[in-house]
Amino acid sequence: MERQIRGIPASPGIVVGYVHLLRWEVPDVRHRIIPDEGVSAEIERFHAARAQARDRLQQLRTRVEASAGPEEAAIFDVQLSILDDEELTRGVAELIRQNLAAEKAFDEVMLEWRNRFARHSAAMLRERVGDLTDVHIRVLSLLLDLPDHDPVSVPPGSNAILVTHDLTPSLTVQLDRSSIAAIATDAGTRTAHVAILARSLGLPAVVGLRTATTDLHGGERVVLDGGTGMLAINPTDEEIAAYHERQREEEVAEAALSELAALEAVTLDGVRVILRANVDIPEDAEAAARSGAEGVGLMRTEFLVVGRPNMPDEDEQYRAYRRVLEAFEGHPVIIRTFDIGGDKLPIGGFPTEPNPFLGWRAIRMCLDQPEMFRVQLRALLRASMHGNLRIMLPLIVTLDEVLAARRLIAEASHELTGRGVQHRADVPLGIMIETPAAAVAGDTLAPHVDFFSIGTNDLVQYTLAVDRGNANLAPRYTPLHPAVLRLIRRTVEVAELADIDVAVCGEMASQPLMAFALLGLGVHQMSVAPRSVPLVKRIVRSVTAAHAEVAASAALRALTAEQARHELASRLADVVGNAPYLYDGLPDSR
Ligand code: PEP
Ligand code: MG
Repeated sequence: MERQIRGIPASPGIVVGYVHLLRWEVPDVRHRIIPDEGVSAEIERFHAARAQARDRLQQLRTRVEASAGPEEAAIFDVQLSILDDEELTRGVAELIRQNLAAEKAFDEVMLEWRNRFARHSAAMLRERVGDLTDVHIRVLSLLLDLPDHDPVSVPPGSNAILVTHDLTPSLTVQLDRSSIAAIATDAGTRTAHVAILARSLGLPAVVGLRTATTDLHGGERVVLDGGTGMLAINPTDEEIAAYHERQREEEVAEAALSELAALEAVTLDGVRVILRANVDIPEDAEAAARSGAEGVGLMRTEFLVVGRPNMPDEDEQYRAYRRVLEAFEGHPVIIRTFDIGGDKLPIGGFPTEPNPFLGWRAIRMCLDQPEMFRVQLRALLRASMHGNLRIMLPLIVTLDEVLAARRLIAEASHELTGRGVQHRADVPLGIMIETPAAAVAGDTLAPHVDFFSIGTNDLVQYTLAVDRGNANLAPRYTPLHPAVLRLIRRTVEVAELADIDVAVCGEMASQPLMAFALLGLGVHQMSVAPRSVPLVKRIVRSVTAAHAEVAASAALRALTAEQARHELASRLADVVGNAPYLYDGLPDSR
C-alpha cells in the first residue's frame, strides 16, 4: 500500500524509481582516546582512509571528465590537493600522537581549517571552504565506517530518485543525469534556484517535502510526480500502472500544446504579446528556440559558474553566449551578467555572509571585482557580432551601479579595440527590476537604460521579506500581494513614460493565472521556462487584453493576495473555464 508525502511541485514529470538517500553532512564525532601503543596503528589508519578517499576522488574525476569535460572535473583537483596537504596531515598525526583517535584528530584539524578559511580576507581561500567540507565528510565517513552517501556515486542506469535535505545548485549541476532520474528535497520552494535549475535540466523535482529524509531509509520504490508535488512511497503495481497512464496523458497534452509553437501570441482583441524563453544553460538554447519563443528574455549566466571552482575564461564565455545568440537567429537575446551569490555559488561559495540574499551578490560582486567583470563584458561584446544581443544587469538598487557598469562596458570595448577584436560597442543595456528600491524609484533609472525586466522571484522575496527558498514560508510567498501588484504596475507606467521596453522574467509569468494578471497590468513581454511558453501562449490567445485589464484593476483594488487571486480566477474562468492547469504552481496549490 502506498503512502504519500506532499511537497511543492518544482519541475514536472512522473518518475518511478528507487530512493537514493543523500546525507552529505559532516557526521558527529565522539571524543575517543587511544592508548600509547595504538598510536602508530592509528596514524596508519588515517593514511589508509586518506588513500581510499583519494582513489574515490580519482574515479569521480575520470567519470566527470568523460561526461562533463575537463573544466567540470577540475573541482576534484582542489579536493585532491587538500588530501595531500602536508600541513594538514602533519597536524592530524600530531594530535593522534597526543592520543586522540584518528577521526577526532582529523575532525579537529578540519574544523580549524574551515574556520580559518571562512574568515580569510582572500575570496579565493573563502571559496575553498566547500571543498574542505567535502573532504571532511568523505574522510570521516571512511574513518567511522559509515555507508557511502556520495552524491555522485550512484551507478549509471539506476533510475535513482535523489532524496536529500537540501540541494545547492552547485551539487545539482554535478549530478550524473544518466543515473539520477528525479530530485526530492525536504527544503526549497518553486523559486529556489535548485527548482529553477531542475526545470532547466528537465529533471522532475519535488521540493519542500519537509520530512522526506526522515520518512525514507533509502532503497524504497517510489513514484515522484513533479507536476503535482507528490512522492508516493511503496506503491502497488496497480498504482504504478495508474501513474504510467497519467504520464501518457501528460505527454499527449504537451504534444497538443507544442502545436501552438508556430502561432503568434496575440490576444483575442489583437494585442501582441512577446513571449521569450529563460535559458539557464547554453545547451538549452536550441530546444528553447523550438518552443516557439521569440528570443531569450533571460539567460542566467551564473550557471556557467555554479558547481565550478573557477570562473570560465573569456573564450569559453564567448562560445556559450554565441551559441545562444545563433540558436535564436536574430531574435533578441537578453543575457544577464553574473548573478552569483545568494543561493547561486561556485564550489566553495562565500560562507561568511550571515544574510546571503542581502549580501555580496550579483552586480555588487561584479562591480567590486572589475577584472572579473570585464572578462564577461568582453565575451558579451564579442558574441554580439553573432546575433541580437542585449545585456541586462541584476539586482540594481541605485543609478550609480548602472553608470559604473556602463563605464566598465566602455572599458571592455576599449580593450577589445586595443586587441583588434571585432565587437559591438553599442549593445543595448537593461536592468532587472527586482528590488523594491528599483521598482519604487524606477523613474531615476529609466532614462539611463534601454529596458526593464521585472524579476518577480526576488521582487516578491524582498517586498514581502519572505525568503524565496524557505519551504516553511511558501504559503506566505504571495506574488499577488497588493504591494507586489502595485510595484509591477508602477514599473510598467514608468517604462511607458520613458518609452522603454518592460518585461517580466520571473517565475510568476509562467503560471497561467499570473500571466493573465500581468497582461492586465500592461506587461506585453514575458519570459518563461521553455516548457511554459506554449501554456502562456494558450492563455494569451484565449483572452482579450481588455478583459485582463478589468481583472487586474479589480486585483489591484483587493486588500489581500487571496482576494486578488479570487478576482482574477473568477474572471479568467469566465472565458477559459475552470481547467486545473490554471492553478498550477500557485503558492497555495500545495
Ligand atoms: C527573478 O529574481 O525574478 C529572476 C528572474 O532572477 P533569479 O530567479 O535568477 O534571481
Ligand atoms: Mg533575481
